[in-house]
Amino acid sequence: MPDSTGFGRLRDSALQPIAEKVRAGVRLEPADGVALYATSDLLGLGALADFANQRQNGDRVFFSANQHINPTNVCVLRNTCVFCSFARMPKEDGAYTRSLEEVYAEAEQARGMPTREFHIVGGLHPKLRLSYYTDMFRGLKARHPGVHIKALTAVEIAHLARIEKLSIRQVLEELKSSGLSTLPGGGAEVFSTAVRATIAERKLTGAEWIAVHREAHALGIPTNCTMLYGHVETPEDRVEHLTMLRDLQDDTHGFLTYIPLAYHPDHNQLGEELGRVGSATTGYEDLKNVAVARLYFDNIDHIKTHWPMVTPFMSQLALAFGCDDVEGTVVYERVYHEAGARTDMHMPYGRLVELIRGAGKQPVERDSLYQPIRESFDDMVEEPLAAV
Ligand code: SF4
Repeated sequence: MPDSTGFGRLRDSALQPIAEKVRAGVRLEPADGVALYATSDLLGLGALADFANQRQNGDRVFFSANQHINPTNVCVLRNTCVFCSFARMPKEDGAYTRSLEEVYAEAEQARGMPTREFHIVGGLHPKLRLSYYTDMFRGLKARHPGVHIKALTAVEIAHLARIEKLSIRQVLEELKSSGLSTLPGGGAEVFSTAVRATIAERKLTGAEWIAVHREAHALGIPTNCTMLYGHVETPEDRVEHLTMLRDLQDDTHGFLTYIPLAYHPDHNQLGEELGRVGSATTGYEDLKNVAVARLYFDNIDHIKTHWPMVTPFMSQLALAFGCDDVEGTVVYERVYHEAGARTDMHMPYGRLVELIRGAGKQPVERDSLYQPIRESFDDMVEEPLAAV
């Protein structure tokens, strides 16, 4: 194919008109998104996404020093989210629910580390009330006033609203006044009704997930957004999902970053039904999902790679495929390790910096709102990880 776009040779002629739009900064249509997912020209796709990312972020790659906390894995949807390996019934082996003192004890890990954010998500516990979370956030803020609280997916917010008989807005207001500052992007899965009927039939609908985030944005609570790929969804389902996110962002500008999440098939019903146990998504799919997102989201500043799911190796490669944001130090990752992720649970701060530098990029430690915190790492001292 002759090169009329400046991207070099594009092996797939279907990419040519899309390349022209990318070069001109023209928004991609849903049909373009489907063509991007369909292409086998991964390097051509990556070149387009890298161009779009360079235009937006240059060589800067953001990361955060964060700590994940999962207060409970007990979940009322345990038997209907068939892709989930994390959840347990209340009396099932491995079920746990932390007391507030146990949560505070785990959070003590943040002392002596550069942690600036607690990322708190868990199951939909039938008995934990809103006050459990508001007390938790107040207690964490009292003990770690400088640490930002990013907590509770839209699914958890909707669950709390239901059991408390409150509106989504009332729950969000209560949480915000107790110390919550942003929401993570989980629970979105794939918005398609047919996909949800297959993998998560009782979870809130795509429109309901969007409504929770719309409400959060209206209250001045920024959020993240995600898509779980690599199970039963089609390219059209993926594009419909991205379009719904892009439309909300046009209205509110409340999304901070988009994170494509790779489905892990171990220890869950869906993996067995699909005959996929032991075989997670391919690197090809992982890179493609990053690149398509960068090209499709002309209104979301950042695309994040989640190294616990796709491995640090793929996350490093993703930085050449349109990605400018790397999941942080994490410290304790439980959700995907239950599903067979073989990565470490913790990424030391210094290793994150080296991972980004190793891709020829400029690491930038950010806060939870993407304000730069640190851009020079020459005097970096590795932090210890104490046993909890
Ligand atoms: S995906 Fe979330 S809502 Fe569904 S079973 Fe797992 S923890 Fe519960």
